Amino acid sequence: MSTPELNYIGIDLSGPQVHAALVNSSGQIIQRLEAQVSPENLVEQLAIIARDLGAGSGQVGAIGVAIPGLVNRQTDRIVSSPDLPSKIQEDLHSELTRATGLRVEIENDANAGAYGEFVAGAGRDSRDIFYMMIGNGIGGAIILDGKLWTGSSGFAGEVGHITIDTEGLPCVCGNTGCLETVASAPSIVRRARERLFRDSTSSLSRLGLNKNFTADDVARQANEGDDFAIMMIERTGKYIGTGVANVINLLNIEKIILGGGVMVEAGQLLLNPIIQETKRRAFQPCFEATQIIGAVLGADAVAIGAAMLARDAA
Ligand SMILES: [Zn+2]
Repeated sequence: MSTPELNYIGIDLSGPQVHAALVNSSGQIIQRLEAQVSPENLVEQLAIIARDLGAGSGQVGAIGVAIPGLVNRQTDRIVSSPDLPSKIQEDLHSELTRATGLRVEIENDANAGAYGEFVAGAGRDSRDIFYMMIGNGIGGAIILDGKLWTGSSGFAGEVGHITIDTEGLPCVCGNTGCLETVASAPSIVRRARERLFRDSTSSLSRLGLNKNFTADDVARQANEGDDFAIMMIERTGKYIGTGVANVINLLNIEKIILGGGVMVEAGQLLLNPIIQETKRRAFQPCFEATQIIGAVLGADAVAIGAAMLARDAA
């Protein structure tokens, strides 16, 4: 059980920028810290972030670090993470423990985001949720009866790798046509680029003015009324809704919570087509029993969840 006076540090390594927070034992943020880090000396940089956050108030109980990739929580090892150098994957847990003197828990970023929303966000009043994180990749996590359900070897919820298009493009996982290959942030950019250069309806899009546009730019332009960007976001919603329908049919779950960078930027414009497509494809009684909603913690979800998973791992 958690001790009420202890605080916890959550560190989100899922983006280019580290997003860290000192969190109290009920999941409220006391202090935030954002920093650019480089892969060289990563442990030292994280230890400094933890020290700066911990210096604030109270005693720190543990540190949770969320990474994009697969984590075996029994061994505290990162099993695979395309974004982190292999040396860091091997040593992060032991070295950060040594550098900080604190208990360290390594988590998958989608699991952490799910747990953050469950403890302090859109899933607060639920026992069963499915969380989908739509960002640079597409992650997912299942919470059943108040507990993260990680599967027999720790990797449950990988909704980004369910097949959406059997004739689709190769995915980093080795399969082809995964949800991630059409609806992650880089996939949205790729699809938008492909269309911009062969589709006359796109000629008025402001996206054509910026050679290096990002998925955030697509979402932003869509929210400003750019027809082409709206079409790209709606198409993305259809793909995600197809995935959500599969999840609903499989789990008959109370709540689906959609978070991650793309959702934060696109908001309702993405949520609406997701709900429409889910309704079209899911088994109707299951669909009617499920609430599909946006996450509410924004960029804080993963850091809060990492901290709370560290709290509960004791
Ligand atoms: Zn895949």
